[in-house]
Amino acid sequence: MSKRDYYEILGVSKGADEGEIKKAYRKLAIKFHPDKNPDDKSAEEKFKEAAEAYDVLSDPQKRSRYDQFGHAGVDGQGFGGGGMNMDDIFSQFGDIFGSAFGGAFGGGFGGGGRRRARRKGSDLRVKMKLTLAEMVNGVEKKIKVNKSVVAKGVDFKTCTTCNGTGQTVRITNTVLGQMQMATTCGTCSGSGQIIGNRPPGVDANGTKKKETVITINIPPGVEEGMQLNMQGNGNEIPGGIPGDLLIQIEAIEHEELERHGSDIHFDLHISFIDAALGTSVEVPLVDGKARIKIEPGTQSGKTLRLKGKGVPEINGYGRGDQLINIQVWTPNKLSKEERSILESLKDSENFKPNAKEAKGFFQRMKEHFS
Ligand SMILES: [Zn+2]
Repeated sequence: MSKRDYYEILGVSKGADEGEIKKAYRKLAIKFHPDKNPDDKSAEEKFKEAAEAYDVLSDPQKRSRYDQFGHAGVDGQGFGGGGMNMDDIFSQFGDIFGSAFGGAFGGGFGGGGRRRARRKGSDLRVKMKLTLAEMVNGVEKKIKVNKSVVAKGVDFKTCTTCNGTGQTVRITNTVLGQMQMATTCGTCSGSGQIIGNRPPGVDANGTKKKETVITINIPPGVEEGMQLNMQGNGNEIPGGIPGDLLIQIEAIEHEELERHGSDIHFDLHISFIDAALGTSVEVPLVDGKARIKIEPGTQSGKTLRLKGKGVPEINGYGRGDQLINIQVWTPNKLSKEERSILESLKDSENFKPNAKEAKGFFQRMKEHFS
């Protein structure tokens, strides 16, 4: 499911300033206000949609992430996002339309004339392989793309098929009489212009390929399969807006650490001697290392948690942990001497599993993972 562009929802340009955005949102909030549209689900959806757009575009930080990466940059998952509920909207933005009631209602909100859809260049797609550290910390990448740019020296003239309107009207005779149907002009694809003379190397769209270096700021917290959308960095088209650059994230596997959502898992193998006596060991982190203490009498399967050493949430709130899963290594070859030492301990009560204690321990583990 694709979400609508926030600028489009509010009906403002990309360069709109704070005042324009506020004004546009206020207008929509009043128009689709639930008090004015009782039991109208579609008005409620529009009301929520406008609030979500305003929430992002009125916040300079969120807006810049949105400008760079589209929806993926602000709602984390790149889709859905859940939006806002009515209570959020009234508590956060109530002041915007609170005072508007009364006065504003009489005035016509009319208009709403449908704008002609602007032509848009095609999207460019790239795959980007990132290490775990790059996904956790964010990274700036420069990539080279071969994209279509509007060529200089192209001579445009008015499309003769549609006379520059971008639409052709077809009249059909039906039993109900003549019907007019407007369709996008096939000659100019709706732009109203066609290319006259073009310099060599320029294609029939009036564009040519150009190797372009694009700087991409990957935000912390991205994950495998996520798609970032850099609006306006795709292929250009004369008389239209450029397509988008879609960046597909691929994860390069880490040698020792494994990512599970926002947590990092690490399997630590220790000897049963260390498990019994306790020790201190160094474990790898995404950035550097940490020394951790193993308590005497540690059971295999115990999980230690290093708070905040995981992956940051892409929406900027919170951060996962690193979990250290302890595995006790049982020796599978023994010297004669070692064997005899162990045999001498065989009958010690201390080496026999304590059924009651063990049960409590494994019960806790189950709860931990459920
Ligand atoms: Zn045309």
